[in-house]
Amino acid sequence: MAILKTQGLVLKYTDINEADRILTVLTRDKGKIKAISKGCRRPKSSLLPSSELFAFSDFILYKGTSFYHVSSGELRESFYDIRNDLLKLSYAVYFTELADTVTDEDIPSERLFIILSKTLYYLSRNEIPIGILSCGYQLKLMDLSGFRPQIKKCVNCGSEENLQKFSIKLGGALCNLCFEHDKSAIKISAGTLETIGYLLSTPISRLNTIKIDNTIFIEIDKIIVDFVQNHLDKRFKSMDFINSIKSLERE
Ligand SMILES: [Zn+2]
Repeated sequence: MAILKTQGLVLKYTDINEADRILTVLTRDKGKIKAISKGCRRPKSSLLPSSELFAFSDFILYKGTSFYHVSSGELRESFYDIRNDLLKLSYAVYFTELADTVTDEDIPSERLFIILSKTLYYLSRNEIPIGILSCGYQLKLMDLSGFRPQIKKCVNCGSEENLQKFSIKLGGALCNLCFEHDKSAIKISAGTLETIGYLLSTPISRLNTIKIDNTIFIEIDKIIVDFVQNHLDKRFKSMDFINSIKSLERE
């Protein structure tokens, strides 16, 4: 029987039978896997803490014919504080949904595991403004998935001069001679492009060192969300929900 010992983070789950759960776990060593956590919903089950959403645990799993089975799970971090705030919780759901979307099962991606774990850690600790954390995470995830936005050169001709628009569709900056290649490209300032560059190159733990002017931030936030949805070809309900909470807060 194949045994797998690995750290893992629960991306989502489905309750089945009377007390079981099928977990989708992003593991450090094997990428995304499906694992049955048998009996975890019984009140005294030792598997319950590591079978909750966002739970980060040391797992011992064994492989059955089509699923892994959770043999044991030792919880390291529940990110419990995320649940105290609806906006934070919604962002955490969005972050895990994104990670789920960009991974296929059984394809190892330790880098993604580390980025998501760190992002949830900083989200729970309030050390980094939530919007900056979100932009940094999304950009890093897109970079890992092969969709790094091109910000230093025109995506069409390669010129480094007069980069005045951003094309979501073409994946980066457009110079003033190439505007006709994407009529829907958005006007963008040099400062905004530079800030996207900082967000891409700064480690998650140091994102709190970036100061972003509010007008630039609103521009970047919208561009990044559109960029993600366009290139992953998916509309994220969790992001729609985040936007509705934000608009309520503005009223
Ligand atoms: Zn150009």
